[in-house]
Amino acid sequence: MNVVSIRFDPQELANEMVLVFRTMDEAITEVIEFKENAVGIEQNKPSVVTKALKTLASMIATRNFYRTGTEGFINGINVWQKNHKSSPLSTPAKNELIAILDQHGMKWPGWSSSDRIRLLLEQLQEKTMKEWTKSLYSKVRSGEKKDEGKVIGIQKGADNFLRDFGYFDRIPIDIHEKRFILRTGIFHFCSSRDSDPLANKDFQNALVLFCRNYLSGIMMEDIDIGIAPGIVDDFIWNYCAKFKRNICGATPLCHECKLNTVCLFSIMRVSN
Ligand code: SF4
Repeated sequence: MNVVSIRFDPQELANEMVLVFRTMDEAITEVIEFKENAVGIEQNKPSVVTKALKTLASMIATRNFYRTGTEGFINGINVWQKNHKSSPLSTPAKNELIAILDQHGMKWPGWSSSDRIRLLLEQLQEKTMKEWTKSLYSKVRSGEKKDEGKVIGIQKGADNFLRDFGYFDRIPIDIHEKRFILRTGIFHFCSSRDSDPLANKDFQNALVLFCRNYLSGIMMEDIDIGIAPGIVDDFIWNYCAKFKRNICGATPLCHECKLNTVCLFSIMRVSN
């Protein structure tokens, strides 16, 4: 029998993660943008309302893969943003947005992309973008799928939007973060006994606990990342995603990874 003795310290992992995060200019730029979005939404600044509407439209058009829209959609929505940044809810702006979704939006089961954007625009007649976002946040937290929750469809999209516009406790988890959380040992050390290693919510819970226990008081761009797991999620995503750094992707590049002396997977592989 092969007996393996290992030494793993989640605090050391957390400390090294922070050192890596501080070198990731592209993620830091995103965090700065998230903070600006938060202020802009709070003030209902037209250019930020336009940006929020563009993000929501992109999520609807791509069924929540909003960073990978079709060329036609991306061109159309960028022109729309440029032309309507001071009045995103004027009648011409709304009509153009619906037309873009009609032409380039993906098909959803049940009702179309343009139906969803119409619903969103109707809701924004009753509420400001700030109120709408706040209401979406409370719906997502309580698990309600009606009203604002119906627009984007699935929780990851809602979490993505909320995190990008100031609700830093929301974690838009996907396969990239799941690989990292599982391999590094975060999942092993920060999940409860009844956690399911296939369930998104259990990965989110593990990251929340990891941040609280090992990253509290660490400031990134004036944000305490101990209570901002959505910000930590963004760094992890940038570190792992295929079209980003791709260090801890489908095939982990442990030999290049700055975490290879503190990551559980890497330690186990060396021990073996
Ligand atoms: S050491 Fe390997 S498994 Fe661990 S985080 Fe880095 S790339 Fe991923």
